[in-house]
Amino acid sequence: MKVLENYINGSWSASKENNYRDVINPATQEVLGRVPYGTHTATDVANAVEAASQAFKAWSQVPVMKRVQPLYKLKQLLEEHAEDIARTITTECGKTLAESRGELQRAIENVEVACGTPMLIQSEFSENIAGGIDEFMIRQPLGVCACIAPFNFPGMIPFWFLPYAIACGNTFILKPSEKVPLTMTKVFGLLEQIDLPKGVISLVHGGKETVDALLDHPEVRAISFVGSSNIARYIYSRAAANGKRVQAQGGAKNPVVILPDADIDMSVQIIADSVYGCAGQRCLAASNIITVGDNGNIKDALYESAKNRKTGFGLDEKMEMGPVISMESRVRVESLIDKAIHEGGKVLLDGRNAKIDGFEQGNFIRPTILEGLPLQGETVRTEIFGPVMSLIELNTVDEALDFINNGQYGNMACLFTSSGANARKFRSLANAGNIGINIGVAAPMAQFPFSGWKESFFGDLHGQGRHAIEFFTQTKIVVERWPKEWSRKF
Ligand code: NAD
Repeated sequence: MKVLENYINGSWSASKENNYRDVINPATQEVLGRVPYGTHTATDVANAVEAASQAFKAWSQVPVMKRVQPLYKLKQLLEEHAEDIARTITTECGKTLAESRGELQRAIENVEVACGTPMLIQSEFSENIAGGIDEFMIRQPLGVCACIAPFNFPGMIPFWFLPYAIACGNTFILKPSEKVPLTMTKVFGLLEQIDLPKGVISLVHGGKETVDALLDHPEVRAISFVGSSNIARYIYSRAAANGKRVQAQGGAKNPVVILPDADIDMSVQIIADSVYGCAGQRCLAASNIITVGDNGNIKDALYESAKNRKTGFGLDEKMEMGPVISMESRVRVESLIDKAIHEGGKVLLDGRNAKIDGFEQGNFIRPTILEGLPLQGETVRTEIFGPVMSLIELNTVDEALDFINNGQYGNMACLFTSSGANARKFRSLANAGNIGINIGVAAPMAQFPFSGWKESFFGDLHGQGRHAIEFFTQTKIVVERWPKEWSRKF
């Protein structure tokens, strides 16, 4: 049984915590490892912060061109070990191997963009703002930064932050989700090979107590969080009250609108992949599928596509959808389906009580389609985070925009159409941070911020790209006077 250790001050060490929780393969219920989980993880946090504070003194002074060199090595190592890491993601998180490989590719792209930090960190200079006076801005690192990650992208989400933070001269502590701690344990096995000085990066396992210790530690200067909205709001408030810089990405309930002029064949496949990819456990998973006007046989086509999706253990390459993360999650999703029925909805395709041959103990839910939900009901507004599509029929684009803009979340909104004018209107008026036009998962590439509005994001600067550089640096303005008269003649 693998008992997980922390990576602090350049070496692996046992946690000070005596309590552990099991890390479970969601397809088989096999216990894959044991992760520290309890109040004594606060001591681990204190040790990691101390090492990170010490390391910051020298690391922040290393020229940026030198600070990015380890990232080139990291890219190479991640590529060499991609298959092994992808299998670990699938084993502890449940998604298919193709999804795990894709997620890792997105992680690597963030490392590549962060290699451009010497350019991205450049700043502004105004010569002669007054006689003999120049003014300029420099970007300096903050100090110790911490990241708290969710379960659904164990290999990717830490990379929205880690490579940028260290390239900017900060030191970085990661707390992965206690449900999927094996992936980052493996990745830190690579990170320890890239010649970073000890203390620059740390891995600390745990749950709420570990998080609270990070939020309260006076020497942690910035918190990057990704997870559900309730926790995001809590993280934002507590960290901000403690004077920290915070970016907290939250949950979602993503609408997709299909107009009568959409290419139906193309749209159906893309939408089904968005709803059911990662078993619906993506913050950019489509959830409310809104047809406007007459869309012919789209309902039948969506039904066929959902019904035929192969569900099973993700390590089997033939599978198109894996299990949800835990038995609690399965019970929660199924009870939300019950609730939808109670609210007056109909189940067009029922994925509850799924039994997968050979994996009878797994947390499987097959693709589900609901329709006829009341628009003022709770289910239509609640993040389900499972393979459930709700079909909604509306009459106009304006009605669809009203529905979208009345929702509490603002992570993503998508439109399927062949009309440029409607697309333009939609992208302008939909209140969401990520917009897809004929796209089902509008995931920003690494050079763009991973946006998010309303209850889907608390803060100002998002992860990835230039936003990450701004988040992980503080600006200093220098005004300098060098009067002409002082110049010496040589
Ligand atoms: P979660 O909020 O349960 O957990 C996220 C992290 O917070 C974990 O590391 C966990 O240990 C910690 N945590 C949990 N409860 C806590 C508490 N009471 N106090 C302090 N820390 C706590 O989220 P999850 O279930 O791991 O992930 C799924 C959620 O994340 C979904 O809502 C999904 O939409 C969201 N998500 C959002 C984005 C985005 O970019 N907006 C990306 C991925 C996932």
